[in-house]
Parts: sequence; structure tokens; C-alpha cells
Amino acid sequence: MLRILILIAAVWVIYRLFFHKRKTVEPDNKGEKRLSAVRCSFCGIYVDKNDAINDKDLFFCSRDHYLNYKDKKSK
Ligand SMILES: [Zn+2]
Repeated sequence: MLRILILIAAVWVIYRLFFHKRKTVEPDNKGEKRLSAVRCSFCGIYVDKNDAINDKDLFFCSRDHYLNYKDKKSK
């Protein structure tokens, strides 16, 4: 009987640890998304990722800088 109780307690602890970990990861990811700032590849200013113009792994503060950067690169 005691062995069964220990087994149940062990399973519960493992389950709780796993469940707790998964629960704490989610808000962290959301916070990162909300607060992440990216650097404009043209002028170097930091802008919110949601407002930035994204081209592959490059970010730009405005459409003008995105076009300027592309124009500069093609020359
Ligand atoms: Zn810029």
C-alpha cells in the first residue's frame, strides 16, 4: 500500500513540475513578442518589431529606409 502511495506522489510531482514549466514558458514568449525591439538596418534606430518592416532577417523603421537599403545594396 505504501509503495502505491509513493508511486502516486512521485507521478504527481513529476506531472506538476512538467505542467508548471509549460505554464511559465507561455507568458515569457508573449512578453518577448510585446517588448521586442529591432534595429533598422539602414539608420540603426530601434523600433518595435510589430511596427518594423521585415525583409528576411533584416528590419527597417520605415518603408523609405527599406527602399533606400535595397537601392544601396543593388548598386
Ligand atoms: Zn531607419
